Amino acid sequence: MAATAWLSQKLGDGRILCEACSQACTLKEGEYGLCAIRQVENGELTLLTYGLAAAVNIDTIEKQRLFHFMPESRVLSIGTIGCNLSCSFCENHDLSQYPKENNHTIDGRALSPQQIVDLALKYDCEVIAYTYNEPSTYLEYCFDTAKLAREAGLKNIYVTSGYETKKAIDTITPLIDAMVIDLKAYSDSFYRNICGGSLQPVLDTIQYAHNKGIWIELTTPLIPGHNDADEEIRAISDFLARLDTAIPWHIIPFRPMYKMNDLPPTSTEKLQRAFDIGKESGLEHIYIGTSCPDILHSTHCHGC
Ligand code: SF4
Repeated sequence: MAATAWLSQKLGDGRILCEACSQACTLKEGEYGLCAIRQVENGELTLLTYGLAAAVNIDTIEKQRLFHFMPESRVLSIGTIGCNLSCSFCENHDLSQYPKENNHTIDGRALSPQQIVDLALKYDCEVIAYTYNEPSTYLEYCFDTAKLAREAGLKNIYVTSGYETKKAIDTITPLIDAMVIDLKAYSDSFYRNICGGSLQPVLDTIQYAHNKGIWIELTTPLIPGHNDADEEIRAISDFLARLDTAIPWHIIPFRPMYKMNDLPPTSTEKLQRAFDIGKESGLEHIYIGTSCPDILHSTHCHGC
């Protein structure tokens, strides 16, 4: 299925600027954006995956790294193929990179926004999560689903790389109840060399979403030798603390995968070190994934 994309500008020279994310692709007739799911067709920017969900699962909300919003609620998680970044450690690379690595093949299960909401209600989910791949690349599908979900009394959460534009945030946030934003590192070279993006747009999104009053929680994968130096961890936690010490920070252990299969997993010592640095910065809620002592991945009051 396909739908006309929003947030685009005709540049007058036959090209169209996509304003959904900070890649700011300018595309001629027939060209695909870096996400590989937006293409110019018949003079219009088109979302090729509208109505095509490539992953649908029922999770608890904690699985989406959201610990301070409707704890233990059931979530219908959906995603499509395609992504605006190309992270070498992506755990969903079979979805996110699928069209780029398969000659622009578009795939997914036909599911209209109404059918997604009906599924959520049928399986007693209270929340719909737009996750697995970058939701701003399929903003129109998210929006139409989130609108129907809201009307049905469901909540919407957005799990994002933080690479969307302010226009995209302004479009979707009236329907979004909470956001999980990935801050993958604090160096521009990490974003450029490993993710195919840059750092500043992500920092801007975090600041902008927080200023708009949306509940946000942040995630950082800790990748040995790439973003786990004390100075870089401190730069992340200091940035968050300057914004608001109450923002929860989830430190995610890295597991070897995709193009980073040759690296070791994150050590428990390194995770503990990152936790300690975050505490030194004044962050009140820091969580670490499994394999650590319970206290590092349980929701607890910062005063206790
Ligand atoms: S969503 Fe981002 S990557 Fe995709 S076409 Fe638009 S600007 Fe390019």
